[in-house]
Amino acid sequence: MTDMRVPMSSPDIGAAERDAVARVMDGSYLSNGPVTQEFEEAFARVVGRRFAVSVSSGTSGLHLSVIGAGIGPGDLVITSPFSFVASANVVLYEGAIPVFVDVESSTGNLAADQVAEAVEALKTGGSAAARWLPPSLRELAPNDFGSRLKAILPIHVFGQAFDADQILAIAANHSLQVIEDACEALGTEHQSGSAGTFGTSSVFAFYPNKQMTTGEGGMIVTDREQDALLFRSLRNQGRDVFDAWLSHSRIGFNYRMDELSAAVGLAQVNRLQELVDKRAQVASWYNESLAGTDGLEIPHVASFTTRMSWFVYVVRVAEASLRGPLLHELDSKGIPSRPYFPPIHLQPAYRDRFGWDRGSFVTAEDLGARSLALPFSGVMPERDVELVSEEVKSALKRLL
Ligand SMILES: *Cc1c(COP(=O)(O)O)cnc(C)c1O
Repeated sequence: MTDMRVPMSSPDIGAAERDAVARVMDGSYLSNGPVTQEFEEAFARVVGRRFAVSVSSGTSGLHLSVIGAGIGPGDLVITSPFSFVASANVVLYEGAIPVFVDVESSTGNLAADQVAEAVEALKTGGSAAARWLPPSLRELAPNDFGSRLKAILPIHVFGQAFDADQILAIAANHSLQVIEDACEALGTEHQSGSAGTFGTSSVFAFYPNKQMTTGEGGMIVTDREQDALLFRSLRNQGRDVFDAWLSHSRIGFNYRMDELSAAVGLAQVNRLQELVDKRAQVASWYNESLAGTDGLEIPHVASFTTRMSWFVYVVRVAEASLRGPLLHELDSKGIPSRPYFPPIHLQPAYRDRFGWDRGSFVTAEDLGARSLALPFSGVMPERDVELVSEEVKSALKRLL
């Protein structure tokens, strides 16, 4: 392993976060306590939803949202293969089946016209419907796809808003729930609203490379009080608020956020505008230095995204065959980079279980083969952006 000259990502942690953690350590609550509640209230206000329920990760938040949507064994949920694996895994946790639909090339987000096509086909049934299912289930599946289809789980990939107008219209026309994976999009604005306002429940994640962090952690937001109560119970071993400590109304989980993480989260959410602005500055430095580079596409932001909240900075090489060599060249110069995303349906676990193979979702596969995330964070200095950009440009010159 070469010593890296630039980190792949870094959290933006300052005195406010450190002081907040120290105050919690001097107090008497280390798990869910008053700071957790304050963090939830501040977060709900910032996103513009009635309720925010903190959880131990974005993944646990998505899992509870799947339960909240009433999704169970054999149900179908439309989602994207071009995402972090958790957004499909949470469907499997409840015995339901992720129905993958391909993405738009420009944004990497679910292609709304294909979502509409998949919904129509599943409602129609028969062989038209079967083609949308994972290969290993096409023969076995019962022919009641229409009633099994419960929800759409779209993702704002890399901080880029999904086509919310179209996707919400399809969901409304067919009485489908929307579980919004906003884990990469805190601060993103679509012309019709902010990321986090489009789902029956919407989920954010606070892993250290996200727009804001709590170490590990996540947040579910919703306007439905009964869902918020359900999530609070499920994250806390199935206790209802009025239950005695060892009384459990339902089978739940330990998906609680601890008070130390919440203290970091509260300090971060109070600085959210600054955190998002700093990331936008770094992205614009990259855009300026990389625009017009032969063999390279810089990120395209859709016109309906009125504010892009940058999660990662992902470029695409012109030909898939260039990506491995570019990654290798950068690595040898001390610059880390990551292929982003390897499509979910081609992950070994999904191939083994569902029989997926190449050629199933050609755009997701193409993007998966050509995309490369460059070092990125809100605390990245301009000289590091210059350094990475120069190495990218000179590596491509050698390779082309
Ligand atoms: C980060 C992320 C998650 C889940 O995050 P964790 O907090 O790591 O569990 C889910 N979906 C997407 C698209 C993500 O990027």
